[in-house]
Amino acid sequence: MPRFVPTFALLVPALLAPLPATADTPPGLTGFAPERQEAQHAYEAELRDTVDPERLAAWHDTTSSRPHVAGSPGDAALVEALAAAMTEMGLEVEKQELWLYLPHFVAAEVEVVTPERVTLDLQEAAFPEDPFSGHPELLPGWNAYSGSGEATAGVVYVNRGTKQDFARLAELGVEVAGKIVVARYGGNFRGYKAKFAEAAGAVGLLMYLDPKDYGYVRGLMWPEGGWANGTMIQRGALLTLPYPGDPLTPGVAADVPPTADGAPAYGDGHLSPMEVKMPSIPVQPIGWQAASEILSRMRGPVVPEEWQGGLPFNYRLTGGEGLTVRLRVEQHRRPTRTWNVVGRLAGERYPDEEIVVGCHHDAWSFGAGDPNAGTIVVLEAARAFAAAARAGQRPDRTLLFAHWGAEEQGIQGSVEWVEANVERLRDGAVAYVNLDMASMGPRFRGSAAPPLARSIREAAKAVASPVEGAGTVYDEWKGRSDGEPQLGALGGGSDHVGFYGHAGVPSAGFGGGGSEGISYHSNYEDLAWYRAVVGSDYVSAKMVTEVVVTLASRLAEADLVPLDPAGYAAGAGERLSELAAAVGEGERRTAIEQLVAQAAEVERAWLNAGEEAAAKLAAGGLGGEALIAANRRLRQADRAWLNERGLPGRPWYKNLYAAPDADSGYAPWLLPGLTARVEGEGDDAAFAATVEDYRQALERLGKVAEGVGERSGEEGEGGEP
Ligand SMILES: [Zn+2]
Repeated sequence: MPRFVPTFALLVPALLAPLPATADTPPGLTGFAPERQEAQHAYEAELRDTVDPERLAAWHDTTSSRPHVAGSPGDAALVEALAAAMTEMGLEVEKQELWLYLPHFVAAEVEVVTPERVTLDLQEAAFPEDPFSGHPELLPGWNAYSGSGEATAGVVYVNRGTKQDFARLAELGVEVAGKIVVARYGGNFRGYKAKFAEAAGAVGLLMYLDPKDYGYVRGLMWPEGGWANGTMIQRGALLTLPYPGDPLTPGVAADVPPTADGAPAYGDGHLSPMEVKMPSIPVQPIGWQAASEILSRMRGPVVPEEWQGGLPFNYRLTGGEGLTVRLRVEQHRRPTRTWNVVGRLAGERYPDEEIVVGCHHDAWSFGAGDPNAGTIVVLEAARAFAAAARAGQRPDRTLLFAHWGAEEQGIQGSVEWVEANVERLRDGAVAYVNLDMASMGPRFRGSAAPPLARSIREAAKAVASPVEGAGTVYDEWKGRSDGEPQLGALGGGSDHVGFYGHAGVPSAGFGGGGSEGISYHSNYEDLAWYRAVVGSDYVSAKMVTEVVVTLASRLAEADLVPLDPAGYAAGAGERLSELAAAVGEGERRTAIEQLVAQAAEVERAWLNAGEEAAAKLAAGGLGGEALIAANRRLRQADRAWLNERGLPGRPWYKNLYAAPDADSGYAPWLLPGLTARVEGEGDDAAFAATVEDYRQALERLGKVAEGVGERSGEEGEGGEP
C-alpha cells in the first residue's frame, strides 16, 4: 500500500468519526508507525464502506440455489461460478484439482420389522412455504463413510453415544453387541458415535435430532419457525482418523488422478483403502418422527433421567424381545474430483507474506447456512479489497481468498492445499481466518489462536453492531461477557485445522450467531430458511464482512504485524497449572511446575519485546531490514510449537499448543501432547519425553522473542525504506 492518504479519505470523513482519534491522541493502531495511521484508517473505512448487504444477498443467490455436495455436478458448477466471480474482480485465480477418496450415496432403507412392519421416511418433507425443499437433486439423509451393508436386529438406546454413555451401558449390564443402536445427536462428533458403537459390537447405528435439543421443545418448527420438524435430518461424515483430509493421503497432497479403471492412484505416501480404518457398520441419520416409530415401541428398562429426550413417552434402554428393526445402507467410495479455488491479491511490498481468508464451498444440500453464510463473506471481502486495488490501493502483504472443497467429508480440500504448500506457509503465512457459517446472526463470537485475539477485539471496535443501540460489535460482545470478551480455543471441525494443526499458522474462526433455530446439514439449509430465520437484510453478514476487512487490512498493512505471541505463553501457563494440579504430587508434578515457571518467563520476554518494538516503531526507529526480521520473528513464534514427531498417536498434528480432542473431535485440547500423557497415555519415559518436547517448544518461543525490538544486528542495519 502506498504511503499517501488516498483521495477517498477526503470523501468519507464521517466514517472516520467513530474512532477515538483526536489531534492530541493518535488513534493507536497496533503495529502501525505514527505517520501511517491516518492512511490506514482511511483505507479500512473505505473497505468497510464498500461492503453492501445487497451484494451479500446476491452472492447468497449465486451460491445457494442448487444442491452442491462435494463431487456432484452442482458443486462443479459452483466452483466455476466462484472462479468466474473472483476473476471478474481482478484477482489471480488458481484452481487446485484434487482427487479425493469420497463416498457417494446409493441407497438407504430403515424399517420396523416386528411387532409390525413400518417403513420409515429418510428424507425431509417438502413444503410450499419452502420452494427449495422439493428440489430434484436433494438426497435422502446419509452419513458419509458409513459402511455398506444390512442388519436386522433388536434395539438399544445409547443416549448421545459418547465414550461415557457406552461405559454407562456396560455398567448397567446392557448388551450392545449384535444390536442396532439409536443415538441422539449432540455431545460429540457423530463419527465417534459410530466408532464407539462399532467397537461395542453394534451391527448398525441410527442417529436423530431429538426435539428436546433441536425441535419443538426449543421453539416453533420449520416452516412455521426455525427448529427441527419431525423429518429434519442432520447429514454428516463419520471419519475419525488420526488425521484430517483425504483418507488415503495423510501428509501429502491428493492431486494424482486415479488409474484408468477408476482405482485410487498409488503415488508417494498414498495408502490403499484396505490400510485405512473407516466405519464398517451401516450408519443412518433419521428425523425424530422416524426415531419415534422405534423409540415408542421399546419395552425394556427406563433410561437414567438425564437420558430422557423430548418425545412424549418414557425412553427405554432396550427394545425388548418383540422389537426388531432392519437397516440397509449402500454407499460407493471412489476417487472423486473436486477443486480448491483461491483468488490472490498480490502484496505490493511483501508479496511472500500471506493472509489467507477462507471457507469451504461444498454443502450437504443448498448450504445457505453451512458454509455459504461464510462464503458470501469471503466473496464480499474479496470484492472490497479488489475494488480498492483497482482504485490504486493494493495491500502491502498478499491476501488469498479461498473456497475449499470437500470440507464436509472430513476437512479434505483445505488440508490437501496446506499439505501441498506447507513449506511456503510455514515461512510466510501471517494468519488464516476461517469463515465457515460466519453470518448466522448478529451476535459476534469466535475462537482464535492466542496471538490473534487482540487484533480481533480491536477490529470489533471499528465496526457498528447491527443490534439496535448496542454501539460497536465489541461493545455488544462485551455486554454479553464477563469482563474483556474472550475468544475460545480452536478445536476441530473446520478448515483451520490444516493451517493451525499442521502448518503452525495462527488461525481464527469467527462470525455472528444468535438466531433462533437450526437447519444444519439438512435439506432445509436453504435461502427460504436463512431469510426467514436469520434475516433477509444481511446485516449480520455485513457486520462480519466489516470485521474481516478491518482485521485483514491491518494484518496486511501493519509495519509490525499485530500478532501477540505473549498470549501463547500466558495460555500455556494457565493450562500447565491445570495439568500440574491434575497429576497429583510427585515427579510428574515437579516436571510440569518447571514448565509453568518457564512459561511465565517466556511471557515476560514477549511482553518486553512487544513494548520495546512498539516504542521503537512509535519513535521512528524500526524500519528496513530490522522491521522485516522482526516480522519474521513474530511469524516464527507460532512455528515454535511445531514438533516434527507430532502428537502421541497422531503424528499428522504437529502443533503442540492445540488440537481437537482425541475422543470427541470438536472440543479443543490445549497442550494436547501433555494432556494425552496426563490422561494416562504412555509410561514414565513417554511422559518425560513429552515434557522435554514442551520444554523445547517454550525455549524456542522464548528465543524468538529476543531481538523483535532490535534496531540492528545479524539482520543488518535498520532504516526507513
Ligand atoms: Zn461447514
